[in-house]
Amino acid sequence: MAVPDPHYWHDFRSRLVIPSEAFIDGQNTPASDGQTLTNHNPATGDVLADVAACSSEDVDRAVAAARKSFDAGEWSLAAPAERKAVLQRLAALMMEHQEELALLETLDTGKPIRDAFELDIPGASGCFGWYAEAIDKLYGEVAPTDGSNLATITREPVGVVAAVIPWNFPLDITAWKMAPALAAGNSVILKPAEQSPLTALRLAQLAKEAGIPDGVFNVLPGHGHITGQALGLHSNVDCLAFTGSTATGKRFLEYSAQSNMKQVWLECGGKSPNLIFADSDLDEAAKVAVQGIYFNQGEVCSANSRILIQREVKDAFVERFVAAASQLKVGDPLDPSTDIGSLIDDNHAGKVRGYISLGLEEGARLALGEAPDGKEKGAFVTPTLFEGVTAEMTIAREEIFGPVAALIEFADEDEAVAIANDSIYGLAASVWTENLSRAHRISRRLQAGTVSVNTVDAIDFITPFGGYKQSGFGRDLSLHALDKFTQLKTTWVRL
Ligand code: NAD
Repeated sequence: MAVPDPHYWHDFRSRLVIPSEAFIDGQNTPASDGQTLTNHNPATGDVLADVAACSSEDVDRAVAAARKSFDAGEWSLAAPAERKAVLQRLAALMMEHQEELALLETLDTGKPIRDAFELDIPGASGCFGWYAEAIDKLYGEVAPTDGSNLATITREPVGVVAAVIPWNFPLDITAWKMAPALAAGNSVILKPAEQSPLTALRLAQLAKEAGIPDGVFNVLPGHGHITGQALGLHSNVDCLAFTGSTATGKRFLEYSAQSNMKQVWLECGGKSPNLIFADSDLDEAAKVAVQGIYFNQGEVCSANSRILIQREVKDAFVERFVAAASQLKVGDPLDPSTDIGSLIDDNHAGKVRGYISLGLEEGARLALGEAPDGKEKGAFVTPTLFEGVTAEMTIAREEIFGPVAALIEFADEDEAVAIANDSIYGLAASVWTENLSRAHRISRRLQAGTVSVNTVDAIDFITPFGGYKQSGFGRDLSLHALDKFTQLKTTWVRL
């Protein structure tokens, strides 16, 4: 379906109901102490809603509801085929509400409506559909005992699963956690980011409509240091799946140690390298590298923010890259022709501009983009490319999480791999070469959870996604995600 025009979206906006209450035990509810968080449209600064800011008391209520529903067994002990049917209904309902969910996502995050409509919402719905389809096709194992014993190995849900997620792909990352956790029979509690709670709150209502029993799917918007921390420290939460920054990820390990040793799974930051060799198709490499860094305003954990270029083709690459990036339209997120919307808020945009200033101070040169003059306002930042970057510079080491690429030159394979792996992160990497042997050789040496060859940032339901090193551990997507949300039971019978 074609993306509707701006007229349609502005008209829809005038009648859009913005969800603002938490969702606990199947009911919309304000925070117990009446606290709220003001939710803004980052592209305009307009207030969208005052959204419930859940307290630790709300966390207690949600955990109690989740535990009760898990123990009751209506969902946790249901036949996988029954859970499949409900989750398929949910996936279908999400697509029936594609326009509404896309509009909520764009208003909440500033991302282009075209991306929200064509990618985020179908992606999230597809994720629920994928795990729904998978769950009644998983078999247990029978161990190779002798004839006088029988030992089975079965997968059971973990129990109460909490997920704490970021603001860059709110509904997609919700689906990456919730779909496998629910398919496996867990009861779940989701805490969206402060900046982007809207689609998760609407999803909870749709989940109830699809037939998910009360208490099985709860959503608690709120502050990280209050709601998120209370979930991390709760002794009746069995598993905590987190996506967000490495600094916050480390806190969840501490929360677990301080409480009940709950399982913690972390998807954290990145500074992913894109290695471009002289023997690659340079036109294609440059065009796709532009997407690799500027898609979703660069607010992508696996964004290819370090572009490593073989020295002899550097000038030819920069010329092509700048030509392609200059075509990108920055502007109103509700205009379907917009490629780059606003960043998540003014505060984050200020941080990104701070990195651009720092890059200039440290001696890198702008091949694309503007030097901040300190007078900028609002959350828009235009595509930026630095050349003359060395691997020690801050812009080559720290995650910027905005539309800023650092171009670093290399001489040969060894140097390229050394620079690529010289990072605390290891989420993703890309390699461009027409030489098949080199592609395999380099892929093996790269310390990254996903290596994309002659493309960037390959992500699909069918393959696991997650990090090496301080990008975290555990995997989202594919059947491997079920490892996080199930535990193995051995039953040994002496015959
Ligand atoms: P963040 O770590 O600040 O926040 C993420 C979540 O953690 C939010 O819900 C927040 O409320 C909560 N939180 C914050 N402080 C907390 C605390 N003290 N205790 C408990 N919870 C707390 O990250 P962000 O700024 O929302 O997102 C950007 C980061 O997320 C980037 O580093 C990015 O790389 C990462 N990210 C990673 C992936 C991935 O799959 N690896 C995907 C998207 C984003």
